[in-house]
Amino acid sequence: MLQKTSITTRDGVFVNPVIGQKKSGDFVDEVIVKCYETMIKLYYPENRCKLGTLHTQMKYAGPKEAIHHAIMRQNYGCTHIIIGRDHAGVGKFYDPMAAQKIFDDYPELEISPVFFPPFFYCRKCLTYTTPKACPHDNDVKEQISGTALREMIQNGQAPSEFILRPEVAQVILDHPKPFVD
Ligand SMILES: [Zn+2]
Repeated sequence: MLQKTSITTRDGVFVNPVIGQKKSGDFVDEVIVKCYETMIKLYYPENRCKLGTLHTQMKYAGPKEAIHHAIMRQNYGCTHIIIGRDHAGVGKFYDPMAAQKIFDDYPELEISPVFFPPFFYCRKCLTYTTPKACPHDNDVKEQISGTALREMIQNGQAPSEFILRPEVAQVILDHPKPFVD
């Protein structure tokens, strides 16, 4: 959703997932790459999306890691970087907005952060939206926590198509061990 929204006003998107050591409960690298390959093949116009992997490890350093990620993507030649809620966070350790606020302290960066609030699908608005734009109650919103998503997958259930595209969900469900131990 964030990537597609970004493409609407820019030339294209470079999808550059971190491949390397991660914490328990995160998706394993093979699942990450296969899911992106499936999503790009089925849901992106040709030549609007490039996939390349970034071989390093996640450090879960929240705002500091957001700046590091921005510098690495600046070095790739990217003009913008998407910074979502709680970028590179872990549990409830960081203020979810800290990774966005820290960019005020680094005006010398040549890459511009693009900030997004958390998105959800609203069955009344009939679109993906945010708390700023949608007044409706939680019972008409399709949103799911990482923990709930893991539980569903471990029980062999595919989440709603508003949370995960069915073909991408299938890639995860078909994998014998989609999560890091
Ligand atoms: Zn709504």
